Amino acid sequence: MRHVEPHVFLIAKTAPDQPEMRNWLDFIGAKEFALPPAEAATIGNLLVTLAGKRCYMSYQPGLNPNVSKVRTDLAAFIDNILKVGHGSVIEHVNYTFAIENVSRVFTAEFNRHRAGLAVSEGSMRYIRFDDLAYWIPESIRDSEDDSPELREAKQKTRIVFNKAFSQMEENYQALLDIWNYESLQKFKEKKKLTSLFRRLIGMGVATGGVWTGNLRALRHIFTMRCAPAAEEEICYVASMMLERMIEAEPDVFADFHKEDGYWKPRYLKI
Ligand SMILES: Cc1cc2nc3c(=O)[nH]c(=O)nc-3n(C[C@H](O)[C@H](O)[C@H](O)COP(=O)(O)OP(=O)(O)OC[C@H]3O[C@@H](n4cnc5c(N)ncnc54)[C@H](O)[C@@H]3O)c2cc1C
Repeated sequence: MRHVEPHVFLIAKTAPDQPEMRNWLDFIGAKEFALPPAEAATIGNLLVTLAGKRCYMSYQPGLNPNVSKVRTDLAAFIDNILKVGHGSVIEHVNYTFAIENVSRVFTAEFNRHRAGLAVSEGSMRYIRFDDLAYWIPESIRDSEDDSPELREAKQKTRIVFNKAFSQMEENYQALLDIWNYESLQKFKEKKKLTSLFRRLIGMGVATGGVWTGNLRALRHIFTMRCAPAAEEEICYVASMMLERMIEAEPDVFADFHKEDGYWKPRYLKI
């Protein structure tokens, strides 16, 4: 039995193809629209702007005879997209997270988000669990403001958690012994048994996986899951993810701000 901490890795994102973007812009007559140098714009800024401007052909004045003035500042353009709720435009950009040491409590809730989210979760059927690890929720960690009664309750709860996970490990090992697991050769037989044994493991067990979301899906997930009503682990991990996204896409997530310790967007349901 081990204690672990959740880790969030931002491992991939949509990549621009600037020469092909230029070819396309020239093809549609947007020759005056200057693509920013790669280091001057995030992929979110660039692709959202290109896709958004395609809707009204607002790359340069006069390209659409109805448009005499265009926004050239990318941050202002993105802010307007969010403000007017033109959310489908931000679906073009994907970010991929590898998330480790989160529980099945986290994944069961996170995986309920279907629109715009791709999921590859660690299998408890194929993976053999010899060593069970879990995250100690913040709500049972000591805090300076705790009353003596609360401190005692938290301490006793942690003892019960440790006991339960040690017991689960023992039970799992007992099943491995009963079924003489070490002697099995065929992967199919092993898989059948690990699939059976996992039923004894509590949903607090640490696992992980890979999640890819488009910017619109990610904004929605953070809105729901970084809020005070969210479950504590999903709120903790989603907030870590959001902080990475604010760093990666400062304009698309510019309206998220902290209120009483929780992240909240200014623009809802875009
Ligand atoms: C505080 C909290 C408590 C919860 N408690 C429970 C619970 O007790 N039991 C339970 O089963 N679930 C519970 N959930 C899960 C919740 O019901 C949703 O399944 C989950 O939050 C996924 O969000 P979403 O529906 O917005 O889906 P997403 O896939 O993230 O979809 C994003 C948006 O796209 C639209 N959309 C997506 N799919 C469809 C569709 N098929 N048809 C029409 N529009 C669609 C909706 O506008 C939706 O909001 C809880 C969620 C929260 C945040």
